[in-house]
Amino acid sequence: MEKPPRQYGDERKDPPMAQVLDRNLHIRRIDTYVDPTLPRERAIITHGHADHARSGHQKVLATPDTIAIMQTRYGPDCAGSFQPLEFGQPLRIDDVTITLYPAGHILGSAQVLIEQDGQRVVVTGDYKRLPDKTAQPFELVPCDLLVTEATFGLPVFQHPHPNRQTFQIARRPPRPRPCDRRLCSGQGPTGHQPVARRGL
Ligand SMILES: [Zn+2]
Repeated sequence: MEKPPRQYGDERKDPPMAQVLDRNLHIRRIDTYVDPTLPRERAIITHGHADHARSGHQKVLATPDTIAIMQTRYGPDCAGSFQPLEFGQPLRIDDVTITLYPAGHILGSAQVLIEQDGQRVVVTGDYKRLPDKTAQPFELVPCDLLVTEATFGLPVFQHPHPNRQTFQIARRPPRPRPCDRRLCSGQGPTGHQPVARRGL
């Protein structure tokens, strides 16, 4: 008989790292979720994109830039309270330590290092290792367990080099159109043109 697939987060079978973080990105000991999809009492938000940052949480911990993006996108009262945490500054909560490191994805995007009982778990969120003038540069964080995003991780996704894509976007003639709130910071119909003009 075929055995059911083993799932990460099974407290009885998994290594100690699974006691730190379960498969719902729930930090068990401090009852805090990373990028939760549902409104939660406590949330750590990796970055301001709408598939990671949502409104309705009670307490949000994030970088100052991510908090600013969330408040621009959803309004200043989109969470009960915000606690800004600068990159590289450890924050002790009970016997768990949280530190945010740059993920290089968008402005303010962070990887979350969770330290507990000598174990180091990193949740990357979306990240990018290539240099990008719009984001703080990615930092490699040593850890025991890496929980990585893999939206375009399959080999079928082969994107051109970013410089080539940027060049193609910059060459396009300006075309006023409503901006996509999921992708843009809401600067209006021509919000993408300044980006191209600045050579980004
Ligand atoms: Zn993203």
